[in-house]
Order: sequence, then structure tokens, then C-alpha cells
Amino acid sequence: MKVVFIAEPHSLEIKEAPTPAAGKGEALLRVRAAGICGSDMHIYHGTNPLAKYPRIIGHEFAGEIAALGEGVEGFSVGDKVAVDPVTSCGECYACSIGRRNVCERLEVFGVHRDGGFAEYVAIPVANLHKVPFSWSFEKGALVEPFTIAANVLSRTECAGSDKLLIMGAGPIGQVILQAARRLGTACAVSDIVGVRLEKARRLGAELTVNPKETSLEEAIGAWTGGKGVPLIVDAVGSPDLFPSLLRMASPAGRIGLLGFSKEPSPFVQLEAVRKELSIFGSRLNRNKFPEVISWFDDGLVDPELLVSHRFPFVKAKEAMEFVQEHPSEVCKVILEF
Ligand SMILES: [Zn+2]
Ligand SMILES: [Zn+2]
Repeated sequence: MKVVFIAEPHSLEIKEAPTPAAGKGEALLRVRAAGICGSDMHIYHGTNPLAKYPRIIGHEFAGEIAALGEGVEGFSVGDKVAVDPVTSCGECYACSIGRRNVCERLEVFGVHRDGGFAEYVAIPVANLHKVPFSWSFEKGALVEPFTIAANVLSRTECAGSDKLLIMGAGPIGQVILQAARRLGTACAVSDIVGVRLEKARRLGAELTVNPKETSLEEAIGAWTGGKGVPLIVDAVGSPDLFPSLLRMASPAGRIGLLGFSKEPSPFVQLEAVRKELSIFGSRLNRNKFPEVISWFDDGLVDPELLVSHRFPFVKAKEAMEFVQEHPSEVCKVILEF
């Protein structure tokens, strides 16, 4: 079989590898569609501090079951499935309270262990979620990015009555926007790329702001009648934005963080204490696949709107270079297998 192989940073090749066999409790997945994520780009460029090399990348993928290992029940050859890339130990403190996405021994397909940019992958069936046969494989591959939204909105207890400021209108900002609009939440979106803001308006953003043209803090002040915004989700992750988030939050406000920067952010304790702000980190997803699959079925989100380009997987290198060179034009790029 062919795989997308990263031997070391900046070295990506399509390589022949032996087809794996499904072990005990595993299924052999014939991968049919996979999304390219910012973190795949970071592994390629050597800027993901968590990645190990060499690596078959890819953590947003779906396919059909080609074979079943020993002791597997509830799945059949031919089932269409989406893959939850989170694996956990089941024993540490985080696992013991149901927070398996921050397990001490967390391993993510495509980051810490080989992932889905391969024609076949052996996966524990605990990580597989059946999706309807009527779905495209691409739709199956889009479940994972929406689980990022499901996770941060559940961490921050987003409600329909909230006002939500989303920092960033790239793929993650857009899935958060769709997920929040599904609840009826009023949303403002900030981004420095005009076409992304247009897209955000089409997806139901009430206010869009380009901070290069307008003061975001003033726009949010006007939008909230000077009260501040009760909920902010930061899908940009730039450390120097953080003080502004603290200022824009309303008393008793919540801030969800998704960034992976190692740089410190200036933090004014008075701001957080005076307003009793709650600050939530959100990583990957905590068993959110069933929820997102039901969202896709109720039709209140439209995952395909996220897809901007498609490439055959043997052109993975060209696809990743395209993402690199066209940051404002590209949203989600799908590799087809
Ligand atoms: Zn991703
Ligand atoms: Zn654990």
C-alpha cells in the first residue's frame, strides 16, 4: 500500500509500506478521505512540539472496514466509519474522570503514532464510529474538525442565549461558528482576511471585524452595549492577543483557548479576578464523535461548506504546498484515496 510519509521535518514522500493486519480488537480500515489540518502542516514543517518522527501523518480520516481482527463485535466488513484519533490509557487521573483527551499517556493518530494518510490503517474499534452509508467519505473525514468545536463549546458551556466572539475565521473558527449558530448563539468573528469574514457572514455571523481596519475592542464594545462579551473562543492562539481578550470579556465571562503557542502571554490578574473570568483550555475532543455525527444528521450544520480543495492523496506534497502558499484562499483540503 502507499502512505504519506514524513521521515523528518520538510521531507514528505509517498512511500510503499506493508499493509497492516487488524490485531485483536482492531479493524483494518480502507481509508477513503482525509482532511489536511494545521497540525499536519506543523508536523511537516517541524513546528509541532508534540510530534515524533518518522511519521505517517493524518488525524482527520474516514473509510470503510476491510477486515476485522479477533474478538471484534458490532462492526462488519463494509461499514462506513469515521475515526476518533484520540487514544488514552484509561487509568490516569484525567481518564478516571472521563477526560481521556488529556490523558497522561495520550496518543493521537497521525501525531504520536502513525495516522490516516495511508491506504490502510489498523485501528482499535473503540476509535471507530459508524456513519450512514448515504454519507460521502469526505463528510466522514469532517467529523473530527467539528469535534474540536463541540469540545470547546461544551467546555465553555456555550448557550443559545450567549453572545460569542470567535477569534479567527479559518477552518477552526468556521466550525465553531457553525456549531454555535446551530444553538442560536449570536456570534461576532474577527479575522484579518476579508474573504474569510465574508464566509463568516454567510455562515451567520452577526458582526465581522477586520482588526487591521477597525478597532476590535471598540466594535465589540458597541456590539454588546458596553457590557463586554460573555464568551470568547480564541482560534488564533497568538499570545499577544490574550490581554485584549481579558479586556473584552464581560464580568463572569468565559474564555476558551485552543492555541499551541509556547510563548507566554501577558496576563493581568486584576482583570481576571475583578470580573471573575473563567479560562478554559480545550484540546482535541472528549467522546464528541456521536454528538457531531448527530449534528451532521440534523442538518443544522453543513460540513461540506468547509471544503475548499480536493487532491488525490498521491499529490499530498503538492496539496500541502498549496495550503502553505494560498493561506487566505484555502479552507479545508481533502485528500482522496
Ligand atoms: Zn485537525
Ligand atoms: Zn489516561
